[in-house]
Amino acid sequence: MSGAPSEGRHDFSRNSGRDIGQSPGQDFDLEFDRRHIWHPYASMSASAPVYPVASARGVRLKLADGRELIDGMASWWSVIHGYNHPVLNRAARQQLKRMAHVMFGGLTHQPAIRLARRLAELAPGGIDRVFFSDSGSVAVEVAIKMALQYWRAQGVEGRSRLLTIGGGYYGDTFQAMSICDPVAGMHQLFSGAVSEQLFADRPCVRFGESWEPSDLDSLKDLAARHCGEIAAVILEPIVQGAGGMRFYHAEYLKGVRDLCDQHGLLLIADEIATGFGRSGELFACDHANVVPDIMCVGKALTGGYLSLAATLARAHVAETISAGPGAAGVLMHGPTFMANPLACAIAAASIDLLIESPWRKRVARIERELRAGLAPCAQLPQVADVRVLGAIGVVEMRRPVDIGGTQRRLADRGVWARPFGKLIYLMPAYVMSSRDLRHVCAAVREAAALEPV
Ligand SMILES: *Cc1c(COP(=O)(O)O)cnc(C)c1O
Repeated sequence: MSGAPSEGRHDFSRNSGRDIGQSPGQDFDLEFDRRHIWHPYASMSASAPVYPVASARGVRLKLADGRELIDGMASWWSVIHGYNHPVLNRAARQQLKRMAHVMFGGLTHQPAIRLARRLAELAPGGIDRVFFSDSGSVAVEVAIKMALQYWRAQGVEGRSRLLTIGGGYYGDTFQAMSICDPVAGMHQLFSGAVSEQLFADRPCVRFGESWEPSDLDSLKDLAARHCGEIAAVILEPIVQGAGGMRFYHAEYLKGVRDLCDQHGLLLIADEIATGFGRSGELFACDHANVVPDIMCVGKALTGGYLSLAATLARAHVAETISAGPGAAGVLMHGPTFMANPLACAIAAASIDLLIESPWRKRVARIERELRAGLAPCAQLPQVADVRVLGAIGVVEMRRPVDIGGTQRRLADRGVWARPFGKLIYLMPAYVMSSRDLRHVCAAVREAAALEPV
């Protein structure tokens, strides 16, 4: 911005970092950022501080003032191998020499073929028809379109609704919003504009606890009463992510699959947060040996390098849609940047890197260390619950967390985490060392202890 007032710029390196969000840096015109750039779920008038990141390597973010923060968030589940990874950098450079992008309508390329083959090999049994898109929310939209087209192609009328479970998060586009938790989500704000879906009570029996079949009653009841209106059941397998960070029982997921088979409903599994090892299995559906009809992946797909997502469908879904009469025989979607070659090349390299790594051992170690490191939080009067699954650690407070204050206290201890609602949570890169993870957990314990009782 040539017109930016120079008085507003300070040498960021001279700032102690106490008020990092308000202090413009050498190359960071934070005042411009504050005035002109929307951040996620942020106001343009009362903007919260943002931390300027100059670079990132491994599990560390380097801020403009030279401070290093150990990243406990893996940039929202995605950076599973750490930042600036030599293997992924090389994959990017090699693909750049060929082409960064080419349209996917009427053309194809090696990175897309390689990635689709890899996904089909690894996905829970038999899901091998791949639709590439550019973000998780769009992958969910495409999954929903597939489900609707599946019925329409067969001439079945009236199956347009989705059955889901409370406490979910599926993204920010409109159909995705319509299945997010109706209380915690955006239904109130957009009421009248969001489709009305069917919500079963969220599962109560936790992962690993003793199973209680009545947990499925609410879902069974809705499925039986609304069967003829339902196109698909959609849920996040095992881990409910941004809707509350809860882990439910594998028998629940098995029960859902049985229920879908019983009523002839499609099952859509949103593995966007859980995919690629995060929950301890490659895909969360693998905890229950469940094969969904349609599956969404995103987030960690490119190791956090670029925005890419995919919707996978079983052959019978793809074939039914394709056998539909007239225009209904084609899947009605095609984003401009569909199957972007650069993103696909990096994603294929990221998956190879994961599969060749001892990821299962690494995630199991992180799980043990998160348990050990966060368990003492349960003794704090401010804390309602501590739960860990795979490389996901959650401290649920009794009251909403002071996000800005907690973020600052963690940053002062050299740690990056972004709480939301009542939750302080961690989902580190699988390569985080025990020592770094101990430090991160200690900072979270201290931050939790400093919240008001
Ligand atoms: C993040 C997320 C999405 C949305 O993905 P975007 O890339 O942010 O659009 C959908 N479903 C789940 C489970 C997610 O965690």
